[in-house]
Amino acid sequence: MGKILVIEDELSIQKMIEYDLRQLGETVVCASDGLKGYELAKTGEYSIIILDLMLPSMSGFEISKKLRTLSIRPHILMLTAMDEEINKIEGFDVGADDYVTKPFSPRELTARVKAVLRRQKDSVIQTGTLSYENIVIDLDSYTVKSDGEPVTLTLKEFELLKYFIVNKGKVLSRDQLLDYLWGYHYDGDSRVVDVHIFNLREKLPVLQAKMKTVRGIGYQLV
Ligand code: CA
Repeated sequence: MGKILVIEDELSIQKMIEYDLRQLGETVVCASDGLKGYELAKTGEYSIIILDLMLPSMSGFEISKKLRTLSIRPHILMLTAMDEEINKIEGFDVGADDYVTKPFSPRELTARVKAVLRRQKDSVIQTGTLSYENIVIDLDSYTVKSDGEPVTLTLKEFELLKYFIVNKGKVLSRDQLLDYLWGYHYDGDSRVVDVHIFNLREKLPVLQAKMKTVRGIGYQLV
């Protein structure tokens, strides 16, 4: 995957973001100046750009607008000052994909970046078929077969099954699954995940033994 670019002139914030994202194991490059940031961004090497609004030499808006005229499509997460509603709206107009208002907690920013990374990694697999045991899922037609027989899943169940197969062997936490399926804006009960897992196990009996509950954490497809 591409690297993460942080364009932020407030060094304390820049260093905090850099530190937190490196903890995730990602490659992070920083710029403190708008123009320098833009020069780096337009190389297309970055899959995520964390972009401050008020920057010396070129604003976050200008950077975002200019990038959208190029053929590269990084995920742009804009940092805005609190309660600047107009900034948010303009930010989306110029092509920001998301925004975080300052002051933000490191945890919040990290959670959003993780969600984007997961989606980007997952979107690599969009076509063709995936199989697991006696299950075959067709990503083009959104159909699932078990021992060759069609099984009807809801869209969320389908996405969930696909996510487990792609991440086979990994323990997936309820929060991670919520992030993936409902986005980080979802404030509902994490038991909604349990309900979907229950349904998947009912519809695909092989999962009753293979989709393990990891107590206190989440689930694992073994
Ligand atoms: Ca600034």
